[in-house]
Formats: sequence, structure tokens, C-alpha cells
Amino acid sequence: MSRLYNFSAGPATLPREVLEQAQSDLLDWQGRGMSVMEMSHRGEAFMSIAQQAEADLRALLKIPDNYSVLFFQGGAAGQFSAVPQNLMGHRAVADHVITGNWGKKAIKEAGKYGEARIAASSEDGGFTDLPPRDSWQLSDDAAYVHYTPNETIQGVAFPETPDTGDVPLVADLSSAFLAEPLDVSKYGVIYAGAQKNAGPAGVTMVIVRHDLMEQAQPGVPMIWDYAQQAQANSMLNTPPCFAWYICGLTFRWLLDQGGLESIAAVNHRKASKLYDAIDKSDFYHNPVAENARSIMNVPFLLADDGLNKTFLSEAEEAGLHALKGHRSVGGMRASIYNAMPEAGVDALIDFMRDFEARNG
Ligand SMILES: *Cc1c(COP(=O)(O)O)cnc(C)c1O
Repeated sequence: MSRLYNFSAGPATLPREVLEQAQSDLLDWQGRGMSVMEMSHRGEAFMSIAQQAEADLRALLKIPDNYSVLFFQGGAAGQFSAVPQNLMGHRAVADHVITGNWGKKAIKEAGKYGEARIAASSEDGGFTDLPPRDSWQLSDDAAYVHYTPNETIQGVAFPETPDTGDVPLVADLSSAFLAEPLDVSKYGVIYAGAQKNAGPAGVTMVIVRHDLMEQAQPGVPMIWDYAQQAQANSMLNTPPCFAWYICGLTFRWLLDQGGLESIAAVNHRKASKLYDAIDKSDFYHNPVAENARSIMNVPFLLADDGLNKTFLSEAEEAGLHALKGHRSVGGMRASIYNAMPEAGVDALIDFMRDFEARNG
């Protein structure tokens, strides 16, 4: 049985080498006579797995010492409420920049814990562009500014980190985590569900600056409390051990690829050839402004959407899986995360050309 090229937005494809390592470790992790799923999270074996994962993540992102790295459950959606509960204890106001579906969900949740204001939104333009930085209406009294660097559904991404001065910037980086180098020091909090670009579902990485762990609301539940989790090395309760371990294997795989500079070069090459193929054809179309295009999630429409079903079923037959676009955007979406081989993108482009030749 051969593996498909899996373009799913998440849970998404994982590096083959990571799966093979997990397979070979499955019955007996490093001579311990048991799998990682069966070990105590407080034992020396799992502690070493957890610490190595954090060390490798710190090395990949060059995370400064004044940031904690936490491993949570509850997904990125859990952080939609954890962020306001942890950061709105002193100032119950947050500014949100909305550039797609996930940003809309984040602000809705934040509004339960304080006043969540829309500082800028590109919804009027159908989330195909970014609101220019000089149009943002930032509050004087905001505890933080929240944004989504890569909107997974619309395929819209910020080309650089926006400047919010002294106000901490909070990023839901789920679908672009570890896609390219990042200056962590420009952020107050970065969070990312693993199942897009870093591992399996079940674990969410949170990178938080130390001074922001002292302003939680009094009612924050123990398991969502950044300071308490940092104190407990993310083990206030049983962590998602197996997902954490697979993330660790993925971090190690990224280091083996040469780190984030190397993977970023591959990611940019994959994305630009796919956008090129779309832009050069009248048969396919991507509605996103050129400077706002994601290198991770590439939505595209067929000029005749009556052909969508045929496109998808023939793609599936050709081994190109999960290209259906999100229902709110329609058409297709190719998620081309770190673990999507360049050969997968080449196969998609060949298929698209062939499909156009037969149906255009
Ligand atoms: C997938 C996704 C989420 C939701 O993640 P869960 O782990 O399902 O909670 C949130 N934000 C972004 C940007 C995503 O891509």
C-alpha cells in the first residue's frame, strides 16, 4: 500500500521519517519494553522525551530565555479562551485584527472574558486582503493585540510581523508554526495547535513571555493557567504524551532538514510554483492579493465550478487527497505544509495542467 499526497488542512500529513520512527519505537521505546503511550508521564523516560522536544523547539525557533514553552490540550480553540483569561486580569480590553474565520472565532471567545474590540478587519473584502497597518484602530488600554498570521481557510498570511509598539502581540500561528524562521521576541504569546504543521492532534504549543504570566484573571481554571503550567512543566495533569512525543520527532526531523531557514526555502519554492501555475492559467484562479498569500494553504477556484466534483474525484484517483476547499470559500484548497514533499506539489501541478487540457 502506498501513501497518498495528503493536502488536508488538518489533521495533516506528517513526515514519512517521523511515522517510520514512531513505528519502530511503537512496541518498545528504546529498550524500555513499552510504548510511549504506556509510560508514566512522570517517569524518567517520558521526562527525557518531553525535555528533548522542548529543547529542539527552542533551538528551531531560537526562543529567548525569557519565554516559557508550554504544551497544552484543548487545541488552538482552547487558547481562544486561555489567552484572555491569562492576559486580561489587569486590563480587560483586547484588540483583535480579523483576517479570516479563525480570527472571528478567537474574538468571539475573548469577548466572554473582557472587551474584545475589532481593531481592523478585512471581512468586507471577503478576507482576500490584509487591512493596512496604518488603518488599524488600536486602543490605548489594550492588554494585547491578537491576530492570525496565517488564516488556514482563506489562505491569507501576513508577510511580516506587524508592529504594535509596547502592546504585546498575540499570534494564533497554528497553520504556519515552524514554516519559516520567526523573531519570537516580537511576540507576547504565540500559540499553535500541532495538527497543522507540527504533529498530530491533541497538543497545542504555547510560547509565552514571562512577564505576561502575572496578569491572569482570578477565575482562570488551573489547567489553563500559564504560570501554574510553567511551574509544573506542563504537567499539572496528565499531558498528551504520545502527541508530545510525535511533535518531538517532528522537531528533530526539522533540525535534520537543516532547520527553519532550509524548510522555508523549500516552502517558498513549493508555494510559488503552485501560485505560478494558478496565475498563468485562466482555468484556475486564486482571489487573494499577491502580498497576502499563504505559503501553507493555497485556495483556488475553477473558472467553471460545475467541474469541482470531477476535479476532486479525478484528483483522488490520481493519489491527490483532500483538495476540497472549505465550505465558506468553495473550490479547492491545497495545504502544503512542511511535510508535503515537493514531489507532491509537482504532482498536483501536473494533474491540474492535464485536467485543464482535457476540460478547458
Ligand atoms: C485549525 C486552526 C484552529 C483550530 O484548532 P483546534 O486545534 O481544532 O482548536 C485555530 N486557528 C487556526 C489558525 C487553525 O488553523
